[in-house]
Amino acid sequence: MRGLIFQKNNNSRDVPDFSSSLPEPKLAKDHVLVGVHACAINHADLSPYFGGVTRGFPRVTGMDICGEILSVGKDVDHWSEGDQVLVDPVLSCGHCPDCSESRERDCPEFGLLGMSQDGGHAEQVAVPAQNLHRVPRGVSLVEAAAIPLAFTTAWRLLQSRARVSGEETVLVAGASGAVGCAAVQVAKLAGCRVFALTSTEWKAQELKSLGASRVFLSSEDDWQDQVLKATGRRGVDVIVDPVGPVLWDSFLPLLAARGRLMSCGTLGGSRADLDLKLVQDHELSIHGVSPGGRKELSRVLALISLGRFRVVVDRQLPFQRASEAYELLETKGIFGKIVLTP
Ligand SMILES: [Zn+2]
Repeated sequence: MRGLIFQKNNNSRDVPDFSSSLPEPKLAKDHVLVGVHACAINHADLSPYFGGVTRGFPRVTGMDICGEILSVGKDVDHWSEGDQVLVDPVLSCGHCPDCSESRERDCPEFGLLGMSQDGGHAEQVAVPAQNLHRVPRGVSLVEAAAIPLAFTTAWRLLQSRARVSGEETVLVAGASGAVGCAAVQVAKLAGCRVFALTSTEWKAQELKSLGASRVFLSSEDDWQDQVLKATGRRGVDVIVDPVGPVLWDSFLPLLAARGRLMSCGTLGGSRADLDLKLVQDHELSIHGVSPGGRKELSRVLALISLGRFRVVVDRQLPFQRASEAYELLETKGIFGKIVLTP
């Protein structure tokens, strides 16, 4: 079986290796075997830790999986061979009090596909039947693979945690990434005034088409002043930050009193050096956000079926071209998600 495998347990940013001799997945009684049509890439694929989970190894990577059921375990009801499915990457027991409150990461059995169990960067993957969802109407299998992590993170961040209201202004940083593209749309649907921060003019046009009312270019020296001016120097209520503390010196002064910085990435490192005086004086808060759970994914999929969100796929590439895909992801030369196909 062909696919990508994370071989080493180290801190490097190595791309998982392509292999044409991966072992066939074993089918447990409550699992289904999925023939993978598409599986997106994430920065997390390159890291030995993500979302509170340490990766086992060797491990097939790939968290955002879409495909067709090839066979079902003997205890599986409601799903059949040939069903097209999208897979929730969050593993949990599904019935404890934490799972029922959408706090899967507090479940004793919490894990992630591609981290604690083999993921979807392979021709086939075995996944728990309780993680399956139907592919939303109007979305291709490749587009469906771009949904789970990006949209559940954006939904959890803005709806479950920041609890944005329609009167608020939201600045989405790193807006051309997959989480950013989703966050612009989630904030817009909530009625917020949406600002986006990106690097180049062509991405700015795309972000406006997703619902951003103003787009600021980080390449312009005075972009922070432009943001403040656009709010009458009041500042923004919420900042969506998929990048990390390297930019907090730029972000914190842009927050209005009692503003919230919502952090869901650590691309430039996770250590923060911040001006606590600013945080105290303006009663700011900083929230850490991890990917959403089952209820959040169901909600997002329902809205996508209704045509409320556009799934943005930059391009699809075959597994053999994974190095090129991750290089594009790391150099930020893309808009939206990169999806790999067998
Ligand atoms: Zn549980």
